Amino acid sequence: MLSLKGAKHLICRSSEILQALRALRMTIRELLMVAVFALTACAATLIPEAPPAQRETPTPQVVIAVVGSSPTPMATRVTEVAPTPPYELGAGQHISSSGSYRDNETETAGPMACRIERYSPAFYQLVSSYDSRVLWSDGEQPPYNDEDHMMHPAMLDPFVKLIDLVQAEWGGETQIMVTETYDSLLDHNLAQQNRNLKYSLHFEGRSIDMVPWPPDSTRVGRLCALAHIAGFDWVHNEDDHCHATVTAQSLCELYDYRAKP
Ligand SMILES: [Zn+2]
Repeated sequence: MLSLKGAKHLICRSSEILQALRALRMTIRELLMVAVFALTACAATLIPEAPPAQRETPTPQVVIAVVGSSPTPMATRVTEVAPTPPYELGAGQHISSSGSYRDNETETAGPMACRIERYSPAFYQLVSSYDSRVLWSDGEQPPYNDEDHMMHPAMLDPFVKLIDLVQAEWGGETQIMVTETYDSLLDHNLAQQNRNLKYSLHFEGRSIDMVPWPPDSTRVGRLCALAHIAGFDWVHNEDDHCHATVTAQSLCELYDYRAKP
């Protein structure tokens, strides 16, 4: 049984508990208010900034050149610009097919692979030109006087183009005089006394020597430039004549270059 004293005590404890709960409720309310205030403040900082005002930028002036009557501008295209061929080669100057004035003959046309001997299998693969628009020195004694007409097959195309260019340039007033092409007598590289060490692409029929005819030293440089334009791979103005070479697989690598005994 609950005594009177015990009942009073229980009532007092209950009122204390209620007061504590009331105080706690107030505290929770305050905490909630603080939390709401804090969230509001944070939200304000999270709102993205308005974009900066657009500044008016001046519109660039584009000038489009219309070529001819074409109503649409030409598309810009990046192309490799080929070097402009020279009007003439100076004395001592040489030029490669790529337009280099530094590359030497070996770098451009490859080294001499052999000396083609007359009447060898490779010798019979040389081709001959007897174009009537060209003069031939035929400086060697028979039967070697046909050698100035003989050349590597790859030379024929640039040679014919050069004849056409010379015809167009001087209209027959000046012609090409061929003084050397293929050479089995080893008349080149005269400084080398040892015949076994003589070196020249004439020995393979890949080089040709030419002069303007009638003789005109002022036109040698132009003749060399025309040879370059015609497609010879390496051209050298040797002052008194023009030496031109083609890059091609040596006949020595394809056929036996030694004459049968
Ligand atoms: Zn030569």
